[in-house]
Amino acid sequence: MMPDINIIVCTPSGVPGHTYVAGVGATRCSSCGIEVAVSPSTMQIIEETPGDIWEFRCVRCALDALKSDPDPKIMPLTAGQIQEIEETLRGRS
Ligand SMILES: [Zn+2]
Repeated sequence: MMPDINIIVCTPSGVPGHTYVAGVGATRCSSCGIEVAVSPSTMQIIEETPGDIWEFRCVRCALDALKSDPDPKIMPLTAGQIQEIEETLRGRS
């Protein structure tokens, strides 16, 4: 059996008008290679699960992967990710 691959859906970096969380980093989409943004809370999840396989994908490539998976599963946001989003939104208002 093939191991599960966890795909992390990432916003491309530098999108005008898009709000990124504080401390956001950058990596590349593993499919098309464009630069994408990665939040600190997402990096933390990866560090906490070293046995898992993680792939960064931009939204477009993540959708392609989702469509070709006969049984896709969507992971809920972690408490850290929710907190990060809330803090970012609070900082804007
Ligand atoms: Zn891509």
